Amino acid sequence: MNEPVLSATKKTRKRTFLGLLLLAVLLLLIGSGVYLVFFTRDPYIAFSRGVVTVLVTAVLVLTALFLCGLLAIVITIMHERTFRGLGWLMEKTILLFYPVVLQVGRFLQITQDKIQRSFIEVNNQLVRSRPLKVSSRELLLLLPHCLQDSGCPYNITRNIDNCRRCGGCQVSEIVSMSGSRGVKAEMVTGGTMARQAIEEHAPQAVVALACERDLSSGVLDSFPLPVMGVVNDRPQGPCLNTRVDLGALEEAFDHFLNKQRPA
Ligand code: SF4
Repeated sequence: MNEPVLSATKKTRKRTFLGLLLLAVLLLLIGSGVYLVFFTRDPYIAFSRGVVTVLVTAVLVLTALFLCGLLAIVITIMHERTFRGLGWLMEKTILLFYPVVLQVGRFLQITQDKIQRSFIEVNNQLVRSRPLKVSSRELLLLLPHCLQDSGCPYNITRNIDNCRRCGGCQVSEIVSMSGSRGVKAEMVTGGTMARQAIEEHAPQAVVALACERDLSSGVLDSFPLPVMGVVNDRPQGPCLNTRVDLGALEEAFDHFLNKQRPA
């Protein structure tokens, strides 16, 4: 039987992801440094020593650059503002090291959910640091199909307006929240459909509700499009009658639409 997964968003620490990211970068930095110092001295590799030295030095320099990327992430989060020119470096650092972070976390027996939840928190904080405000037409809300009550007979995946707003699940409240703000909402069944919705609507920003795994892969796929993620609760286990913190959703809407340009 599946374990119920209750909301832990509030308890999530950004430091889980950032600590693992630091560890991953340092491991690569120290590893390539040690390799450079010891292995390239081996007389048996005299033939290829030059090539190896150049390659490892390149890795060393790149890793030092990614260490700067990590520092940029921490400074951005601390100061709650984006510094010009650092966006690219932060994005590449996360994209390249995210799989390594998951592996290091696995080795340290930290659950993938915990790391991904922490990553979503880091991402949300980076999004909040950007001075971006959009009109309601430029914002897209993506919902997972598991928010819909499993007994609901209406097909709202292709058209969320098919929801009769009976109150049987949170979709009715979410549709009201997005509708009152003029924000387009799409219910999607997975990453492919989410990508299609983003291509179709070409939003300037996205608010996405989903589980940790789908949210993190969606955020990474969508870089540099700003995606504010809200992790869902799974009181009945994964992918069944999930729920979401409506306060967190409202906060995400407010962040993007506050001081909005006219729609
Ligand atoms: S609010 Fe009612 S009609 Fe709408 S998706 Fe939920 S159960 Fe179906």
